Amino acid sequence: MDVTIFGSGYVGLVTGVCLAEVGNNVLCIDIDPKKIELLNSGGVPIFEPGLEELIKSNREAGRLRFSTDAEAGVKHGLFQFIAVGTPPDEDGSADLQYVLAVAKSVAEHMDSYRILVDKSTVPVGTADKVAKVVRDTLAKRGVDTEFDVVSNPEFLKEGAAIEDFMRPDRIIVGTDNPRTGELLRALYAPFNRSHDRLMMMDIKSAELTKYAANAMLATKISFMNELSNIAEAVGADIEKVRVGIGSDPRIGYQFIYPGCGYGGSCFPKDVRALEQTARGLGYEPQLLHAVEAVNFRQKEVLFDKIKAHFGGDLTGKTIAVWGLSFKPNTDDMREASSRVLMESLWDAGAKVRAFDPVAMDETTRIYGERPDLDLAPDAMSALEEADALVIVTEWAQFRSPNFQSIKDKLKHPVIFDGRNAIDGRLASSAGLSYYSIGRLPLI
Ligand code: NAD
Repeated sequence: MDVTIFGSGYVGLVTGVCLAEVGNNVLCIDIDPKKIELLNSGGVPIFEPGLEELIKSNREAGRLRFSTDAEAGVKHGLFQFIAVGTPPDEDGSADLQYVLAVAKSVAEHMDSYRILVDKSTVPVGTADKVAKVVRDTLAKRGVDTEFDVVSNPEFLKEGAAIEDFMRPDRIIVGTDNPRTGELLRALYAPFNRSHDRLMMMDIKSAELTKYAANAMLATKISFMNELSNIAEAVGADIEKVRVGIGSDPRIGYQFIYPGCGYGGSCFPKDVRALEQTARGLGYEPQLLHAVEAVNFRQKEVLFDKIKAHFGGDLTGKTIAVWGLSFKPNTDDMREASSRVLMESLWDAGAKVRAFDPVAMDETTRIYGERPDLDLAPDAMSALEEADALVIVTEWAQFRSPNFQSIKDKLKHPVIFDGRNAIDGRLASSAGLSYYSIGRLPLI
């Protein structure tokens, strides 16, 4: 089938390569000429395991192309996927300008039936707005042709995006037209083989399902973080509590890890957007508000622990930071906890020496060159001249470090573990003080 994808970011690129991989003819469009130039020269603008190889093989097979030419995109595909960003507006609601701009481009160039498939995360009612833009634009052009708007939210996880797309837990298709639903079913058939995971529903329910999923996951994290602070206060061990509650199958072990807050391009913005949707309809979403408030506070806990350890004064201190991306296996630093920590450290007069396996370029892109930020070539070099080590992202390579070397390198032998990623007893027996989340420090 011929497929066009508008937006070549995390979602658009992964959708494009995976649809090409199963034999479709895919044209990816982006308004960023640098991104398209890079993709056309064999480069990949983001780090995502397996993506580079799939882009290469599908380009070579002629099934995957990249362009800035929106008109060519509209002429190409029966399916016009919308996979552009929906960043938060000033009040936290989703900014739909990019989604509606794609709707307009499609309508400006279409002369026959097209299906606009919305993969971006958008508030309930957006499909109606997309349809209105298309209708109005077609009317202005005097073109009379049919179209459909489908809600098909994406659930991939950065870091495991290819696997998630290839073997999805569910494929949500929101449509009021059964014939269009069947076309989507055919497009997704290669990803829906072992048992039927495609759930057809009305458009509004599909749009809300995506927000509900992210809000539920964010709630689990904030719940555990709230509990971790209570555990610390009462002298309990949150890791024991985690194991204790996870054994109840109604709770389960997945996604109940305490830490220094969630980040990324989805949870924070989607919780806020859902909150705004509810408020706009006169409903006060108390739980959603608390989920975000707890997360906001949790991003400060590492800084508070570091400051308290150093007697309230961090002036002139150098803090080594391991992990900058918002989670392992991605270079995405949108709303990353590392950013809140580093900015607090800088405000307090400290320097940062940081290392991340893949997010160093992204750090430079965000912060540029600054005298209070050094990027180290590897994890151990980040410890040189450092007063303390903080682990912010639980990359696998940080989990079992040489504690003796850490102790020898640091000016003050102390580790702050924002993800409970390492074995604190080993750190402690090597002579390091060890602070974690939701457990009493080993000093
Ligand atoms: P992104 O910022 O990585 O990519 C968006 C791309 O769209 C950019 O390359 C931008 O240049 C391009 N773009 C903007 N306007 C355009 C236009 N008019 N025509 C063509 N291209 C245009 O965003 P992302 O992380 O891929 O997210 C896209 C959407 O998917 C968002 O709504 C997000 O919430 C949702 N989502 C993201 C994830 C994730 O893990 N990143 C997962 C599920 C859903």
